[in-house]
Parts: sequence; structure tokens; C-alpha cells
Amino acid sequence: MPKMNIIQKLFNIRKLQQQFYKWNREKLELHQKKQLKKIINFCRKNSEYYANLFSGSDEITLEQIPIMTKSEMMDNFDLINTRNLQKEELVAYTVAQEKKGIYSRFQGEYSIGLSSGTSGNKALTVLSQNESELYNCLLFSRNGIPKSVKKRRILFALRRNNPTFKEISNFGIHLIYIDYTLSVEEIIRLINTKKLNILSGPPSLLEIISSKKDQIDHPIEAVISYAEVLSKSTREKLEEIFEVSIIEIYQGAEGFIASTCRCGSLHLNEDVLLIETLAVDDKIGKAKNLLITDLYRTTQPIIRYEMNDIIELQETNCKCGSCFRVIEKIHGRSDDIFHLKNRKGEISYLFPDYVRRSINQASQEIEEYQAIQKAIDRIEIRLVLRNEENREDIEKNIIENLNFWANKLNAELGEVEFSNDKPERNPRSKKLIRVIRRF
Ligand SMILES: [Zn+2]
Repeated sequence: MPKMNIIQKLFNIRKLQQQFYKWNREKLELHQKKQLKKIINFCRKNSEYYANLFSGSDEITLEQIPIMTKSEMMDNFDLINTRNLQKEELVAYTVAQEKKGIYSRFQGEYSIGLSSGTSGNKALTVLSQNESELYNCLLFSRNGIPKSVKKRRILFALRRNNPTFKEISNFGIHLIYIDYTLSVEEIIRLINTKKLNILSGPPSLLEIISSKKDQIDHPIEAVISYAEVLSKSTREKLEEIFEVSIIEIYQGAEGFIASTCRCGSLHLNEDVLLIETLAVDDKIGKAKNLLITDLYRTTQPIIRYEMNDIIELQETNCKCGSCFRVIEKIHGRSDDIFHLKNRKGEISYLFPDYVRRSINQASQEIEEYQAIQKAIDRIEIRLVLRNEENREDIEKNIIENLNFWANKLNAELGEVEFSNDKPERNPRSKKLIRVIRRF
């Protein structure tokens, strides 16, 4: 397939910007219907998996297509993809590249993503060159950086397993890629010498940089958060220190799911992804699991793919004018929902955001935390405090807050043990997940 030229890229970027603000719901739904039909027809002809699935039926509606889990996608990868790519070969290629700390496209064409799955199983994603360029256009047009920021010199933190930084310029934007593992001193040095005015990275890294903010010798004009859940308290803390609104980008290996609008809300990218929500058993709020269908990807079709990410949607429209739905809250992975025993002897679910809030709101003295549910009746809370003096009271507050939510569920919290250990990061993704269920 020919490479996208610069005019096509600019055209796509412009189109994506306009769609976001100017479309109404009717236009959006019509577009989704049309694209979905195209994708289904393409898959029927080019994917062995879907050809088998759709054989015998003329017209396929979305609801007729079975939901695909992460493990089903992996088990059937060779049949699902439309370019005769072999899972084993792609995994071996990517693992070898990561070990060497280099990145090049497979066969000069395919970008491969390999994430650690929930129970150690890896999730493989593949994009053709054209698809990655479209993705970049989307990222470019919806990165949320205010128009008022003219010069764009960006610190871009990624898990690269490579301690050296990489510098690139594109569309007048200057990007410095760094690995999560670079020391904070080195990051600050780069920010200063390269005059970086936009910082982007997971909130846990932004927090580390914020602790050395006084060493940055020029103003920071935008801060972008991704890859980990951004809690309300972390957002407020970062906004106070950097004196800018935090822009949130919600993306996974499976796609660029949501981006921040000019009013600061996080909108689903509904012109690129058709997003369905599945009810989960949330007795307190209105949490939903996400199912995504990518309306453009054909190398590895993503159809009714279960994300395992729990979110809550806002019921009202955003004042920015976009008809794309707004995410009110991201809880995190569904595997990390705490399971509590209720008074009927059944399981009640306590969603991660309530656990985070219970800890965050207990004290201003909390520097770091992580809650790990180890058994149905046992929770470990790692709590690093600025000042140890009030530890007993803070721990008591946390238990009270957690009990407040457990009582709402008519459930028992079980034993809560505290330690002053630092939070653990996921060994592969290096992500800091603050609420984890581990049994
Ligand atoms: Zn908006």
C-alpha cells in the first residue's frame, strides 16, 4: 500500500479536527454504520476467521457478532489478521528487538505492540504502515494541546527499555522520547537543555518530575497524562505545581480511545471507534466495561473487542459542542475490582476508584500508596507518608473510608494490613497500578 504523503496527512488531521467538534449524533451514527459495513465486508473477504463466522448469513449486524476477549484474539490471531501474519513469529521478533533496545517495523511494514496480559498472557497488536500513520494523524489532531501553545517541544515518555533518548522533529513539533527508567535528574537536565515546554508521560512519572519543578528553568505550557489512571487528587496536585490544566489521553494497545477537548473533558473518539458499554455489577455507581470496534483497522480487525477497562460515562453533553460521549471516570482494569464477601455469603464488587478515594481522602500527608487485595478477606495497603507522626490516625481514616463503601455494599472488608513499603510497578509494563487484586 502506498505511503501517505504530507498533503494526505494534513487533510486527515484537518478532517479529524472538524469531525470532533462539528458532527452531530445523527451524522456520527450514519458514519459508524457505513464504516462498520465496510469493515465487515472486508473481513468476510480477507480474514479466514470472519469468513467462517459470517458464512451463510447475508447481512451481519453488530449484535450478531460474538464478543471477543483478549485471549480469544490471541488464540485466533493467525486466522483473524488479513495479511497472513503468524503470532509466534511476531512475538519472537518483538521480544528480540526489545532485548536489543531497537525498534524497526516487521518486514519494513508492520508496527507491533506486545503488552503483558492479565495472567501473564501477552496481547499482540499489529498496524500496517498506513494504519500507524492514520493513528499518528489522530494523535496529532486530538492531543489536546491548546492552540495558544505555539512552540511545541515535547518530552515524551514511553516504555522503550532503552536508556538513551531519541529526538525527532515533525510538523514543526520537536519530540524527545525517553524511557520511564531515566533518572529524574537526567529528565530535568533534558527539559532544561532542550527547552521542553510540554511534558507527557504516565502520572506517576509526572509526579516525580513535579517534585523537582523548582529546578526547571522555564515555564511548562502543557502537561499530558496517559498509560496509568489519573486520579482526581493526582490531577489536582499536578495542576497546582505546573500551573496548567492536565490533558488526559486514554489509549491502549487496542486504540486511541479518548482525548481531551478544549473544555478539558475526556471524549470517546467515536468517529474512529464504535464503542459499546457492557453492564458490570456496580451497586454504587454506573461503571461499565468497554467493547470496542475499530472502524478503520483491517490488518488486525478489532471487532467487539472486550477491553477489560472499567469506566463511567457522563450523562450530559459537553459544553465544547462535541457530540462524542464524555468519560466521567476511569476506574482501571476489571481484574482489579476488589471482591468482598457480602452478608448473604455472595461476592460484592468494590470498584478501584472507591479504593483510591478512600486512601487519597484520608490525609494530605500521603506521598505514595498502593492497595493490593490478596484474598477475599485480606487487603494490604502500602503507605508512604511525608511524616510518620500521624500514621495511626491516617490508617484509621483509611479503614473508616473503606468501611463506608463496604457498608454500602453490605459487605465485609476483611483484614487490612498496612506497611510503609513503596508501591510495586508492573515488572513488564513498568506501570504503577495503585489498586490491584491478586487472587
Ligand atoms: Zn468537550
